Amino acid sequence: MKNKKYVYFFGRKGTEGNASQKNLLGGKGANLAEMCRLKLPVPAGFTVTTECCTDYFANGGKFPKILDAQVKAAVARMEAEMGMKFGDPKNPLLVSCRSGARKSMPGMMETVLNVGLSSKTIPGLIEKTRNERFVYDAYRRLIMMYADVVMEKAEGIEPEEGQGIRKQLDGMLGDVKKTKGYKSDTDLTADDLKELVVAFKQRVKDVLGKEFPDDPWQQLWGGIGAVFKSWNGKRAVSYRRIEGIPDEWGTAVNVQAMVFGNMGESSATGVAFSRNPATGENQFYGEWLVNAQGEDVVAGIRTPNPLNNATKNEQNKHLPSLEEAMPDLYRQLFDIRTTLENHYRDMQDIEFTIQEGVLYMLQCRNGKRTGTAALNMAMDMLAEKLIDEKTVVARVEPAHLDQLLHPFVDPAAEKTAAVIAKGLPAGPGGAAGRIVFTAEDAVAWAAKGERVVLVREETNPEDIEGMRAAQGILTARGGMTSHAALVARGWGKCCIVGAGEIHVDVHGRKMNVGGAAFAEGDWVTLNGTRGIVYRGKLPMVDASENPRFKAFMKLVDKFRTLGVRTNADTPEDAKIARAFGAEGIGLFRTEHMFYGAGSDAALFILRKMILSATPDERRKAVAELFPFVKRDIKATLEAMEGLPVTIRLLDPPLHEFVPQSAEKQAELAAALGIAAEDVRKRGDALHENNPMMGHRGVRLGITYPEVTEMQVRAIFEAAAELKKEGKAARPEIMIPVTCDANELKHQKAIIARVKAEVCKQFGVRDIPAMVGTMIEIPRACLLADRMAAEAEFFSFGTNDLTQMGFGFSRDDIGGFLPHYLEAKILKADPFQTIDQDGIGQLIRMAVEKGRAVRKELKVGICGEQGGDPASVAFCHGAGLTYVSCSPFRVPIARLAAAQAALAAAPAKAAKPKAKARMAVRRR
Ligand code: PEP
Ligand code: MG
Repeated sequence: MKNKKYVYFFGRKGTEGNASQKNLLGGKGANLAEMCRLKLPVPAGFTVTTECCTDYFANGGKFPKILDAQVKAAVARMEAEMGMKFGDPKNPLLVSCRSGARKSMPGMMETVLNVGLSSKTIPGLIEKTRNERFVYDAYRRLIMMYADVVMEKAEGIEPEEGQGIRKQLDGMLGDVKKTKGYKSDTDLTADDLKELVVAFKQRVKDVLGKEFPDDPWQQLWGGIGAVFKSWNGKRAVSYRRIEGIPDEWGTAVNVQAMVFGNMGESSATGVAFSRNPATGENQFYGEWLVNAQGEDVVAGIRTPNPLNNATKNEQNKHLPSLEEAMPDLYRQLFDIRTTLENHYRDMQDIEFTIQEGVLYMLQCRNGKRTGTAALNMAMDMLAEKLIDEKTVVARVEPAHLDQLLHPFVDPAAEKTAAVIAKGLPAGPGGAAGRIVFTAEDAVAWAAKGERVVLVREETNPEDIEGMRAAQGILTARGGMTSHAALVARGWGKCCIVGAGEIHVDVHGRKMNVGGAAFAEGDWVTLNGTRGIVYRGKLPMVDASENPRFKAFMKLVDKFRTLGVRTNADTPEDAKIARAFGAEGIGLFRTEHMFYGAGSDAALFILRKMILSATPDERRKAVAELFPFVKRDIKATLEAMEGLPVTIRLLDPPLHEFVPQSAEKQAELAAALGIAAEDVRKRGDALHENNPMMGHRGVRLGITYPEVTEMQVRAIFEAAAELKKEGKAARPEIMIPVTCDANELKHQKAIIARVKAEVCKQFGVRDIPAMVGTMIEIPRACLLADRMAAEAEFFSFGTNDLTQMGFGFSRDDIGGFLPHYLEAKILKADPFQTIDQDGIGQLIRMAVEKGRAVRKELKVGICGEQGGDPASVAFCHGAGLTYVSCSPFRVPIARLAAAQAALAAAPAKAAKPKAKARMAVRRR
């Protein structure tokens, strides 16, 4: 620790840091240093490193010994540059202490301004500024901030709601205004403020039991320590959880000479974006206030003025712009904007202050932006030759695309909306609708033109029509791979699952959430991207019309090497996915043809098959089912026009399809010529204690070979017929839930026999169709070499692989997973993003073992994680051939795959290789 450099100076001369040192200096510190290097007007200061913050915590909340000397030396350099002295009675230097982590955490940590004001320095500053009011106003702000941040929060004092010291001091300020009949803070006179600071200090002492420090150095050290401590403040900790920022990063502290935007009419302060952060338009955009401090602009107390005339709006058009009020300074600022954009080659978020006609830069950083803006800016900057194609691809985040593809809740409206519950963000986008509690009601209300949100305890396949008809789906139970989540994501529908605070009373047609009651027909709004339920009807924003999207996706494909397919079960889904660029179907779940519109007839026969008591009865039912299965498979193969379609043989436990209602049982009894009671009994006989590990997947094909036979016959006949019609078809047969190569051998024998029969029937030599398996059981990973000897391809079913690898029931995680995440036992929900440490190891091993036996083994993934950007990057690294995900996530997976390729080989010329691959893909 002895030789560590904890303090980095920045100023006109001798700046020590630069923009590449964000990890050490935090974003703000690194950019302040960089702006100094660009010779921009930045008040001098220094950054105490993030490393110092982590050492401070490791040291039990004590500063490293050598910090004192380093800070003193840096203060001396600041003093020399600014021509003022810290703590000097005649010419005092005031400083700010601001946080600055590696990644911006807006408003989550603390700031103390005006540090250095004391009974000794106040008279000197008044003398110098000839502005007593200004000095006392600065002092009262220091007391408020310091008492709150350093003396209360950093000391771990948690006052009751509304009783915090800042609130109390605010209240005292309010009282003075009231007594004197003032409207605004600026009406307070120097005398008022003088009296107020005395009262403030007394209140601080009474409430916190300590004197407000009168020594500038004590204030400075208090400020630095409090900013460090704010890294572990409640807000910062929760923000880190949400954003996935590691706790061990720590924050830097920036100590900088104060400049004042509140020194009169020639002073001002403002924030600006080098381009419009909402639309991406190449237009300097921002807000400013004359005679104000930075906090006044963001606090929303005064309506800020527009920066320039071109960006005036309804709220501020009557106010003078900076361009009008201070044209020279505006031009200076505009030039700085250009310098910064050309330097950083990205949109900058800027903070500036004008002190008595002199412009100072206080911050610059890459600005946060909406999805639309991200896309527009990146494409504009490419056209302006500011960035290259790779940078364009790297710059747009997968989450940005998600925003572009789904209508979303207007963020402005969300800010003030009442949150009623939170759950898992299962289907992205936003939805507003009137509550209904049954699928039938959803269908009926939608038919009348109502927009509805279907609220259920949990959904099951019988709800499918209602789910389709609803704008959004909300369930009290279930995880990210529960039925509702899976189906909703497949449709790109907004959905929140596992909102545990909701208690649904279907019969009473009402729900209770934390004491509040909601009835059928009440409006709610879902933010499915964040998992938040709001009361009432909030407005939506639809950004999908952006014409840049297609051009951008073309660029993305130039750099991508990983294939992207889709999970689709109907020709409609297949078409949507193709429009989004899917290169095939990676998972066609056969059983989905028994859910939803038009499935009644097929479902009825399937039920007959399931409840057959003898092989003969079953064979008859299977034969009846055949035309339905063939019809659906053929339609999907046709929709994909020769692109590969991986058709999975029947997977789910059969009891899922047993009819529950008395009416349906009676119908079935009549068809089977047995008593309704017998239907119920046969259904009961199918009951399993643990169906997820029961009679499902390949086990069905082994116990009922005629079921496999019927399905593969349907596949081969469909393909043969399409060929005859002059259409291309590329089926791939996938056997699910396997754990042993002998299972594959058993099924392959049936497949080979049926294929030969169909070839003969159609008079063709071959109907090409690869035969492969899903890898969903850890044992299959362990024995992947043996599995690959039989299978021509693998597809990782990471929903089941995660379930069986962790021993977590995928339908029951709602009861414990949130606690695991809260207690940081797990970093993330492994059903949403691949657990790279554990399940990832199984995958890597299986790929390696499989390819050792079959070099050309095609390997994909079709679990829900296939559309998650981090999982896509993992799949790229693990050498998978493709990922497969729901249609609406196809563009996101394409982008994540391109970004993974770029990150893996940043220096390589990706173009020629990518072109070659594209050619292969097009064939
Ligand atoms: C899986 O297990 O990952 C999978 C895709 O299959 P299903 O979700 O249908 O079990
Ligand atoms: Mg599975």
